Amino acid sequence: MLELFAAARRDHPDRVAITYFDGRLSYRELDELSDGLACHLVEHGVGRGDRVALYLQNVPQFAIALLAGWKAGAIVVPLNPMYRTRELTKILADAQPAAVVSSEQGWHDVLGELAGPAGVRVAITTSELDLQTRHDPRLFAKLERRPAAGCADLLAVARAHAGRRPPEVELSSSDVALLVYTSGTSGVPKGAANTHGNVVFNAEGMRTRVEKLGGNGIFGLAPLFHITGLVCELGAALALGRQLDLVYRFEPGVVLDALAEHRPCYMVGPSTAYMALMNHPDVAADHFSSLELVYSGGAPLPSAVVEAFRARYGHYIRNGYGLTETTATATSVPAHLEAPVDEESGTLSVGVPTYNTVLRIVDDAGQDLPAGEVGEIVVDGPMVVPSYWNKPEETAAGIRGGRLHTGDVGFMDAQGWFYVVDRKKDMINASGFKVWPREVEDVLYGHPAVREVAVVGVPDSYRGETVKAYVSLSAGASATAEELVAHCKRQLAAYKYPRSVEILDELPKTATGKILRRELRDTARAAAR
Ligand code: AMP
Repeated sequence: MLELFAAARRDHPDRVAITYFDGRLSYRELDELSDGLACHLVEHGVGRGDRVALYLQNVPQFAIALLAGWKAGAIVVPLNPMYRTRELTKILADAQPAAVVSSEQGWHDVLGELAGPAGVRVAITTSELDLQTRHDPRLFAKLERRPAAGCADLLAVARAHAGRRPPEVELSSSDVALLVYTSGTSGVPKGAANTHGNVVFNAEGMRTRVEKLGGNGIFGLAPLFHITGLVCELGAALALGRQLDLVYRFEPGVVLDALAEHRPCYMVGPSTAYMALMNHPDVAADHFSSLELVYSGGAPLPSAVVEAFRARYGHYIRNGYGLTETTATATSVPAHLEAPVDEESGTLSVGVPTYNTVLRIVDDAGQDLPAGEVGEIVVDGPMVVPSYWNKPEETAAGIRGGRLHTGDVGFMDAQGWFYVVDRKKDMINASGFKVWPREVEDVLYGHPAVREVAVVGVPDSYRGETVKAYVSLSAGASATAEELVAHCKRQLAAYKYPRSVEILDELPKTATGKILRRELRDTARAAAR
């Protein structure tokens, strides 16, 4: 990636690399600031193979820190800024970062007290108010500048090293570029070790898609800590030498204003983001009039949403499918085609495999199934991660012989289009954010009144799916549903806590005493319809 970025910087040094409200960073500035920050990291002993964790929203400093980490030869670990103590503690213990780059607020709220015990040697903070002067009250009303004791300020150290370059580190395509943590079925997060080769392959794929477009740049609709934002937005923009428009975090009204102001030509994000934009009271066709290509990925895309968006704004949303482990995209709908809808199920196709990639549908024994038959989706391609960090058993189970067993269930039609119809795994997909029932159940089991728990996903008109918990209480104990929700809220990222808790005398079980989570899920789904 650094070579692609260097070429973009050489060819267009004064072109805008990133917009952030009224702030702008050119390719030259991005290069110089990331050189400066890389020098700081190297001076403090961060080098090849060390981990640099980023705890940031969609701010330009994310791009500066990502490039700086790579320039120092380090592996970058994006952390979801919604993660709280419980989630961060597990990830920090596994990744063991030498350095962290955090928002000031995130540092004061949680990371500050975890970093030292986790062995972090270099702490850098930055304010999301920097690099802009407008400070939209819809996003920044509660934020203030709060420098943190013992932390270097990102922009100050980067500027203090102006004009200096870090020593060159030779990186090969098999070197790990990113550790992107996905919650595992067991509730223990796994770090997908995306190599530089993985990232370049998919960023190049995006480049070929976007380079033919005439307009400005790419809109940062997906969060940068997620693989979609990292590769399909930031990676693609840097590889292309195009402009990336960032807005801190997804807030529909702010996004609409930024679309009108920056007039991007390309946008990718989860289907739920498109639904939220369409439902905003201020939305107008003009907000989307600069777009030439629109993609959705990370969550199921209902064909009704595609048709409503086309009818109102004249744009066809193309579906794409992938996982953190496939460095974002594994299939997509080619830019000149429209995806078919399966007549029987009404499911919109997720497209065809990307270049040099093979998707297979297999049965429980791993045998290939013919077209039309439903089975597990297996991906084999240059973007599949070679391993999970520190997890040989999970790697052996999920990435057998370089083939990723996705846990998603789907089929291929006679023309070679793929469809995702269900999940083998119990994951809940809330607006593209993944929630594993086990993790929420563990938190609820931590409540003294709780005897048994089953957490399931239920349909939700805004998020696609949302979290519901069934609970039974210990004899003589009492707790209200509200109390249990508040208990989860304190310990989990905001999208994970149950939106509803139902207290039952007993949870349904098998003869062997196993809680019938699937039965509860089906009941909850039926009730939500
Ligand atoms: P993540 O690792 O967060 O990118 O999540 C990957 C998961 O998101 C996949 O295993 C699928 O279950 C789901 N997913 C991604 N793209 C799509 C899509 N276009 N349609 C349906 N599910 C999707």
